[in-house]
Amino acid sequence: MRPDHDRSFDEHNKKDTEQSKEISHPEAAQPSATLLLNAISQQVWTANSAGKLDYVNEVICQDFGHTSETILDYGWKAFVHPEDLNYSTSLWNASVDSGQEYSNEFRLLFADGNYYWHLATAKIVAQSGKSNIWVGTNTNIHNQKTNEARKDEFISIASHELKTPLTTIKGFHQLLLRIADEGRIKDYLERSAGQLLRLEKLIGDLLDVSKINAGKMVLNLEPFNFSDMLKNAIAEMAQIFPSHRLLLQNDCNTVINGDQYRLEQVINNFISNAVKYSPSSDKVEITCTVVEESLVVSVTDYGIGIEESHLKRLFERYYRADNSATRFDGLGLGLYISADIIKRHGGSFWIESSLGNGSVFSFKLPINEGIRFEADIKTDNYYQDRYITISCPVDSDIMHVNWTGYQDMHSVKHGGLLMIEYLRNNRCSKVFNDNRLVPGTWSEASDWAAKVWLPLMELAGLKFFSWVLSESAFSQLSAQKSVENEDKQAEISFFENAEEAMTWLVNSSL
Ligand code: ADP
Repeated sequence: MRPDHDRSFDEHNKKDTEQSKEISHPEAAQPSATLLLNAISQQVWTANSAGKLDYVNEVICQDFGHTSETILDYGWKAFVHPEDLNYSTSLWNASVDSGQEYSNEFRLLFADGNYYWHLATAKIVAQSGKSNIWVGTNTNIHNQKTNEARKDEFISIASHELKTPLTTIKGFHQLLLRIADEGRIKDYLERSAGQLLRLEKLIGDLLDVSKINAGKMVLNLEPFNFSDMLKNAIAEMAQIFPSHRLLLQNDCNTVINGDQYRLEQVINNFISNAVKYSPSSDKVEITCTVVEESLVVSVTDYGIGIEESHLKRLFERYYRADNSATRFDGLGLGLYISADIIKRHGGSFWIESSLGNGSVFSFKLPINEGIRFEADIKTDNYYQDRYITISCPVDSDIMHVNWTGYQDMHSVKHGGLLMIEYLRNNRCSKVFNDNRLVPGTWSEASDWAAKVWLPLMELAGLKFFSWVLSESAFSQLSAQKSVENEDKQAEISFFENAEEAMTWLVNSSL
């Protein structure tokens, strides 16, 4: 049986057709919705608010080689490549639950027996007097995808082929350096060593990127002393870059479980960038501290800096900021690779920078898994641990929330759930949310916050939310992403100044 919703779509179409029949001048007629949907060369579909497919256009029928009745009967999952099915189903379910826009790439089975890559996007559309419907399109991106795969394959083969002769050249070069006497030949050999290193790094980056894209980057995790590795890496980099003093400001004597070689690669990348992008300064500072259950490493330079609008995109493949693209050589791959390595270790990374004033590149790695949250104080209207303080003064409808220190998925979920509990139990409708003491990024938690936490806060009674932002640009980005929910009911405002945030909150009323 076809769902109710399908009937409403058909009725809508029927009405369209009837209306156009009534019009006496065909050239003035409005084309019916079905006619329009079939004229589009893309696959178009709709689903009811529960996520059940209830209409497919003719393009889909032609591509799949079935009638619309059969396709609706089988459901969309019957045409998705088995390898893409689990991921696609969970994405679709998440969108249906939250009402958030759906966007996904998957392979669809066509009548010729082959699978073709498609980009599916869908939005929920409100219908007056009826339940909402999902309107979606699937765009064929097969050529684009296969071209990308060919490019990746070419990069992988080319970098492999380049690596072998380079290794041999390097071997002979080292041999020559050993036997060359002081003089012009030795001088030339020493100068060419730097270029050989550069070539080796470029080829290594290309190889790594092709490994990441093919999902073949494997980490060899084992416990090692992070501090020893850091000191060795700094000593080696100091030899390569005599132009700058590389200063280790504070040391962390910590053993972590990770891939030593890959984490050293991240440090090398941060330090070599710090040197490269600070031609007029001679100092790079490195810090390594243990904060709660995490290790935080920062590399500070006093160089050209980065404009805020570029910050968020720097970890993308091939992305280079305007002010460096023409003046400094590079492929824009190092940070992309570093970000992948850090993420695979369960860590996060962020940048603090301003144009002309230098930059601080940081990353955070978990030392122990399974963070424990122990309350220092817990009463009906007050809660405090080392990540969050919540207070709901009696006779006030404002809940005060103070976040402290680095946050991540665990701490944000823990604090977010406590906020829901205290808001509801104390019947507050306003929240003063202070992030001034939150450095770094916690973007891994922002999707959860937007899709799950915010709707639950609204159900618990939230009406007004004033958010005092951290100074950290990446923390601000995480905050903004946390409320990206088109259906939000509560009024949310961001502030840099705590007094303004409180004034706005006190004066807000329905
Ligand atoms: P590459 O240095 O080869 O371009 P990366 O991926 O390492 O590639 O860096 C990407 C971009 O980030 C650089 O092109 C540059 O614009 C910017 N960048 C990285 N590190 C710094 C830094 N310390 N100071 C200023 N800009 C930087």
